[in-house]
Amino acid sequence: MSQQFDVIVIGGGPGGYIAAIRAAQLGFKVACIDEWKNAAGGPAPGGTCTNVGCIPSKALLQSSEHFEHANLHFADHGINVGSVKLDLGKMVGRKDAVVKQNNDGILYLFKKNKVTFFHGRGSFVKAVDGGYEIAVKGAKDDTLIGKQVIVATGSNARALPGAAFDEENILSNDGALRLGAVPKKLGLIGSGVIGLEMGSVWRRLGAEVTILEGLPTFLGAVDEQIAKEAKKAFDKQGLKIELGVKVGEIKSAKKGVSIAYTNAKGEAQTLEVDKLIVSIGRVPNTIGLNAEGVGLQLDERGAVVVDGDCKTNLPGVWAIGDVVRGPMLAHKAEEEGVAVAERIAGQHGHVNFNTIPWVIYTSPEIAWVGETEQQLKARGAAYKAGTFPFLANGRARALGDTTGMVKFLADAATDEILGVHIVGPMASELISEAVVAMEFKASSEDIARICHAHPSLSEATKEAALAVDKRTLNF
Ligand SMILES: Cc1cc2nc3c(=O)[nH]c(=O)nc-3n(C[C@H](O)[C@H](O)[C@H](O)COP(=O)(O)OP(=O)(O)OC[C@H]3O[C@@H](n4cnc5c(N)ncnc54)[C@H](O)[C@@H]3O)c2cc1C
Repeated sequence: MSQQFDVIVIGGGPGGYIAAIRAAQLGFKVACIDEWKNAAGGPAPGGTCTNVGCIPSKALLQSSEHFEHANLHFADHGINVGSVKLDLGKMVGRKDAVVKQNNDGILYLFKKNKVTFFHGRGSFVKAVDGGYEIAVKGAKDDTLIGKQVIVATGSNARALPGAAFDEENILSNDGALRLGAVPKKLGLIGSGVIGLEMGSVWRRLGAEVTILEGLPTFLGAVDEQIAKEAKKAFDKQGLKIELGVKVGEIKSAKKGVSIAYTNAKGEAQTLEVDKLIVSIGRVPNTIGLNAEGVGLQLDERGAVVVDGDCKTNLPGVWAIGDVVRGPMLAHKAEEEGVAVAERIAGQHGHVNFNTIPWVIYTSPEIAWVGETEQQLKARGAAYKAGTFPFLANGRARALGDTTGMVKFLADAATDEILGVHIVGPMASELISEAVVAMEFKASSEDIARICHAHPSLSEATKEAALAVDKRTLNF
């Protein structure tokens, strides 16, 4: 006998579990199916984000930053710790514990919100009167009927042709987050967000890191001035980044990996490393969903095709998060999850793609929202820019981290904020003010006139807003 639900969510990542909770809050009878297994084979909801993405990477970034501070910066504060020893097993164990806290937190939230959780793989069987039949294959098999179905099956790491992930020598984000020893030499292919974050973790812990990037520009999607400032800092830290390379044959043997490539000058090179992390993007995941069986339309990348409201070509079937178009970010997936649940309830769920913040959690952190200066130039917009360096911020000096700046871009005529770009300490937290401001269509003068606590890094945000009108007070 099949169990009946108003809403069935397939995938329990940040898109899926948030959609399930919001739908339950709105009074629907909801099921969420997720197949992720922990080391013991038990349920581990939270998807890529919780298990092998956002959360574990931030745990290791924090731990490795403490290690680097203890090694290099504590002495500046008059704290002499002698020789600092790394216990990698404990560090990775702590990361695993943080992941488990998050998995357990989601299971608790399901109970609290009366979402029925199924551990296993969900797939479409067929359309039935008033909905869809969904099969669950796991430790226990089930058949469910849902009036509405939300597909939130996420994405997987993209492999390089001829260099499949073995998670021993050639690593995806998964293997990169659970190395048993610090490699002496670590290679990365791809200098995007994941490459830079993983490269930073292992460099801080002692690896000699080389990142090979195919594109000729560093962080092309980031505001050029901000990307340049970040590159300077990474160079100083010893993170070697080679741009404009063409990767050739990759050979993996017991003792390591050899990567043949052509550098930007066209010279043939070989990079020999102990481990190689490939971080060249992610592919939408619809494996085992039986999309073809019910005629769910996918595009040439394998993403589920949706309209602006996350509706698929099938009535009553929605899709959200990494498995659809748009930025592959956890908070974008969450916003789509909430919006879809509200649309199912007849409300007007909305996601503003223009105010989705982006963050790279390196040191310095990089964060931005809205348009870059190069985008404004490309569309011929009349704009004003204002920057303020952390070097002139009292709190940054007290912290001992004065790298970077805050940059505002505002419309030349109306002063509306068009973009805010930050490289420097706590950029991930500072960017929220800019997101709120842009969501409320604030002008740079609005931020310049708001009282900011002293001493705080947020004063650099206020000063950058003042700089738009060329009237900084502390620089
Ligand atoms: C190393 C790394 C670091 C990252 N850091 C950040 C960050 O700091 N900030 C940020 O915003 N984003 C970050 N991301 C991206 C973020 O993880 C994704 O954008 C986010 O997880 C997408 O959420 P989702 O719900 O769409 O899919 P996912 O999180 O991928 O979840 C999909 C879930 O569905 C399950 N599933 C798939 N098919 C089925 C099926 N047929 N039946 C049942 N279950 C199924 C999967 O097992 C998985 O649990 C990072 C990614 C990586 C790899």
